Amino acid sequence: MFVLRCIECGKDFISDEDGRAKCTDCRELENKEINALNKQIAILTRQKRLRSAKRIIGELYGTYQGYETFLSELEASIDRPRWFGSVIEILAAMEIARSGIKYDYQVPIGRSRVDFILPDLKIVLEIDGIYHINRKDKDFARDKKIIKHLGPEWEVIRIEDELVKSNLKKLVPAIMKIMEQRKKEREQVKLKIQALEKRFKVK
Ligand SMILES: [Zn+2]
Repeated sequence: MFVLRCIECGKDFISDEDGRAKCTDCRELENKEINALNKQIAILTRQKRLRSAKRIIGELYGTYQGYETFLSELEASIDRPRWFGSVIEILAAMEIARSGIKYDYQVPIGRSRVDFILPDLKIVLEIDGIYHINRKDKDFARDKKIIKHLGPEWEVIRIEDELVKSNLKKLVPAIMKIMEQRKKEREQVKLKIQALEKRFKVK
């Protein structure tokens, strides 16, 4: 036990550790203040992202018509624990919402957290930044784990954020096209397996 003098409030306090500068009360208060500030910073960052997204939407479509519900929901959810990780994610969400597709964002799946899920279409959508170019293997392994969690009927679609930004209006058609392609591939694989089974009489 040590009797120490708090550097902050000047009161003596007892500590089992020598050399502590601040008493428990002062440390707790400081942590609280820091947490509150961090929260404010997070909200501020989100507000900035929202503003940027609004500006881009305004430039792109000249109107917020069709986005009102989405924007008011977005503003209402700004202090939700999981929020959009980037401006481009917000833009993607706007586009998905506009097309009437149901979605959720920043969804925990197993140990991962995915950018979007589109539950009716059974799609996981990831908006990848430039750094994903060097981590294709890791992403592939991650996608496999996600599918294992959600079920084999699900698909993970990855789209580069730059592509989303420069072709925002084409995002949903692109998703649909990719899904069509994947469906075809699945059918081809199924046919191949059936043919093999026939050939080797596997039952
Ligand atoms: Zn103190």
